[in-house]
Amino acid sequence: MNPWRLVAILALVLAFTLGTVLVLQGCKNGPATRSRGEVVAADTADFRDDLCDFTEPDLTVTSTGHVFVAWLSYDGQADSILAATRDDDGWSTPFDVTTAPGRCFSPRLAADLDGGVWLVWSAARDGQHDLFARHWCAGQWSDVERLTEHPGPDTGPAVTMDRAGNLWVVWEAFRDGRFDLFARVRSPEGWRAERRLTDHPASDVHATIACDPGGDVWVAWMSWRDGCFGDGNYEIYARRADMPLDDPPTRVSTSPQVDMLPDLVPLADGLALSWTNAYFRPRTIETLTVPNYDNWDDKIYQVAWLRGGRWTAPVDVRLTLHDEREQVVSDYASAVAGTLSDEIWLLYGFISVRGTSDSTWRTELCRVTPDAAGPSFDISESISGPGRSIGTAWAQGQLWTAEAAEYQGDLQPQAIMEDGTVIWGPDAVAELRQRDPATERNWIHVRALRPASLTAGRPLPERPPAPRHPVPEDLASQQITRKPRLTVSHSDQTWTVFYGNLHYHTDYSRDGRRRDGPAIQNLRSAYDVARLDFVSLTDHAEWMRAGEWWMLRKLTDLWNRPGDFVALPGYEWTSMVHGHKNVIFPDTHVAGPDSLHRAIAETPPTQLWEHLGERDAITIPHHPSHAIMRPTDWSFHDERYQRLVEVFQMRGNYEYDGAPLQHARQRFAFAPGHCVRDALGLGHKLGIIASPDHAGGLGLAGVWAERLETHAIFHALYERRCFGTTGAHMALYLEVNNAPMGSEIVSQGPVHLRARIHGTTPGLKITVVSDGTDVHSVSTADAVALLEWSDPRPLTATRYYYIRAEQTDSHIGWTSPVWVSPP
Ligand SMILES: [Zn+2]
Ligand SMILES: [Zn+2]
Repeated sequence: MNPWRLVAILALVLAFTLGTVLVLQGCKNGPATRSRGEVVAADTADFRDDLCDFTEPDLTVTSTGHVFVAWLSYDGQADSILAATRDDDGWSTPFDVTTAPGRCFSPRLAADLDGGVWLVWSAARDGQHDLFARHWCAGQWSDVERLTEHPGPDTGPAVTMDRAGNLWVVWEAFRDGRFDLFARVRSPEGWRAERRLTDHPASDVHATIACDPGGDVWVAWMSWRDGCFGDGNYEIYARRADMPLDDPPTRVSTSPQVDMLPDLVPLADGLALSWTNAYFRPRTIETLTVPNYDNWDDKIYQVAWLRGGRWTAPVDVRLTLHDEREQVVSDYASAVAGTLSDEIWLLYGFISVRGTSDSTWRTELCRVTPDAAGPSFDISESISGPGRSIGTAWAQGQLWTAEAAEYQGDLQPQAIMEDGTVIWGPDAVAELRQRDPATERNWIHVRALRPASLTAGRPLPERPPAPRHPVPEDLASQQITRKPRLTVSHSDQTWTVFYGNLHYHTDYSRDGRRRDGPAIQNLRSAYDVARLDFVSLTDHAEWMRAGEWWMLRKLTDLWNRPGDFVALPGYEWTSMVHGHKNVIFPDTHVAGPDSLHRAIAETPPTQLWEHLGERDAITIPHHPSHAIMRPTDWSFHDERYQRLVEVFQMRGNYEYDGAPLQHARQRFAFAPGHCVRDALGLGHKLGIIASPDHAGGLGLAGVWAERLETHAIFHALYERRCFGTTGAHMALYLEVNNAPMGSEIVSQGPVHLRARIHGTTPGLKITVVSDGTDVHSVSTADAVALLEWSDPRPLTATRYYYIRAEQTDSHIGWTSPVWVSPP
C-alpha cells in the first residue's frame, strides 16, 4: 500500500451521544435509526480508505497512556497491517507495519512496561503459515522477527506482558496430526524456545492469555476433548502457562451445553474469563438426524473470575433483545475489558433478525460483576458484517473499543419466508443490479466510552429470560467416529473413500437467517464435529465483498492440511431465472480475486462458464426442481464445467417426482421436469453428490480418491467418482463392465453391474436405476452388500445406470451413473 493513498478521517468528537454518532450510514432499506440512550462516546476516530478493506482490529493502551490500534488492510491483491497511535496531539496517520504485502491474519497487541507495544500476527510465507512479531517504541519499529518455523499452520496468536517485562505469545498449531496450543516467551535477553501447552488428541484452539496481579500468566482455550469420549461438546479450559504439561488443566465451563470463544482479561485482584454458551441443534429432516455444531440456539455469555488460583462458578449474561420478534442467528465477536475493580465490560456482536426481511449486525455492551450482569446497552448496529474481532482496553476511566464498521451503501437482501425458506424478492434483484459489492469497504471505528454515562444511560428493556433448551441425551450416541478407511481397487489404482460438504454457507452469505455462523466456526465444526475430510465454503457471490472473498480464500489455504483435511475454494452463483449452482475450484491459485462471478436475475449460465474461461472448476446445480427458489434451467449445459448435480440437501430429495424424502410436500414449490432424472434424461452426464446447504441441513458428498489432497479430491469429483448420501457415512461404489462410476463407456456385449454398498445400519434396499426406471431391486438384512447384476435388455442406445441404496433408518445413498453406449 502507498502511504499517500491512505486517507484517515479522524473525528475527535467530545461528548457526542451514541445516538448521534451511530446513525446507520448509507442504509437504504434498514430499520429506522433508534435512540441508543445517553451513552457518551468521549472520543471517536474513523480510519478508512476508499480502496482498502479494513478488518480485524486490535487495541491496547501503552503504559504511558497512549491508545494504539492495529488492523488488517486488504487492497484487492494482498494484506498489509496498519497501525495508528493517539498521543496528546491526537491520532497519527496510520503506518504500514508489514514489510511486504501478503496473506495475514489476527494482528494482536500487547503494551510493554516502557511505553512501547508488541505486535504479533500470523501470515503465509514460503508456503506455510507462521507467526511474526515487531516491537514499536516512540515511533520506531524493530525488525520483523519470525516466531515459528514448523510446516504445519501456526495461527490465532494471543499476547500479554507479564510483570517482569516478558512478552508471552500463545497460539494454536497443527502438529503431529492435531491442534494444540504452544507458547513462546520473549525476555529482555531474547526469545526462549517454544513450549507445548496442551497435549491431548482432541483439538485445543482459540487461545486467550492474561497476567494476573500476582504475576502468573494464565491461558484459556476451547477444547473438543470431551467430544472424543462421547460427551459431544466444546468446553473451556484454563491453566497457568508455566505449569508442567502433565499437570491437568482446569475445566472452567460447567454446563452440558456447548462453550466456545473464550476471552481472558486482567483485573485489579484477579482475572475474568468470558465465553459463549449455547444449545446446538442436531441437523434434522423428517426422521433423520445428524450432529453438527453450526446450528445453535439459545445463546448466552458466561463469565468466571479467578480468585486465589480458583475459578468461580460462571455468571450468565443474556443477550437483551429488543422485542419478542428478535432472534439471534450468529455471533461474530466478543471481548472483555476489565476495570480497576472486579467488574468487567463485555462486548458482544451478533446478527439480529426481526421478521423476514430485517436483519442487522448488532453490538451490545454489558457491565458484569461476580454478583450480577447488566444492564445491557445497544452500542452499534450495521446492515452488513463488520468483522470478527473487537479490540478493547480499559484506561483512564474509559472503555476504549475498536471495531470494523460496515461500508456505506449496503443493501439488505429482501426475503420472503416460504415454509421456513428464505428467498430474494424481485426488489432485491433490482437493487442488486445497482450494487457492486466488489467496491465496498469496511473501515475501523475507534471510540472511548465513559462508564458514568453508561450507567446513567438508558439501558435495553429488561425481559424475562427464555427457558433454555435441554441437551438431548442421545447426542452423544450420534457422534461419528473415524472408522478404518474403506478402499476400492481398480486396475492398478487404489481409491479411498473421503467425505465432505460442498455446499456450506457462512454468515458472509447475508441470508444468515438460516443461522449460518462465522467461517472459522463452520470449518471447526466440519472437522471436529462432523468429522469431514473436505469442505468448500460456498457463500453467495452476489452479496460477498471482495474482502470477504479474500478472507474465505485465505481460510481455505490455512485449513488445507494434505492427508488430514482439504478445503476447496468455492462460491454459490445464484440466478433467480436460471437456477443456483455452486462453483468449486481445486485451489486458490485457480480461484483468484477475479474468479468470482456475480449473477443478476437473467444472467445465463453461459456467462458464468465464459467467465471461468480456462480455469479448472466444477459447477454443481442444486435444488434443481424447486419452483420458488428457482429450478435449474437444463436447457443450458456445459460438459466441461457442469460435471455434478446435488441430489439431496436441507430441503430434501430432488431425484425424481415421488422420490423418498422428496423436497416439495407443497406442490406449488415443485417444478415438474427439472429433477435429476429429468436432466439425465436430456443426456446431461451428471455425477451425483449431496450437501447440506445452510446450517442445520443434511447431506454428504463422498468421493473415491487417490489421496486426501486438494487436486486428488477435485480430480475424483471431476471424474464423477463420487456419491451422495442424506448425511449417513455410507459408502457406495459402482462399476459397469469394470468401468468405475462416472465413466462413459462403449459396450460390445452384455452390460454387467458390480456395486459395493457399506451402510451404517443393518438392512439395505438396493435399486438399480436405468434411464428413469427402477430396473432391479434387492434387499438384505446386512449393512454391507455386494451386488452383481446383468441387464437382460439389449443395448440399442446410450443408457445410464446408477444405484440408490435405502437404509431401514430412512437414510439414502446414490452413486454417480455410468453411461453405456452400443458400439
Ligand atoms: Zn442456492
Ligand atoms: Zn446455498
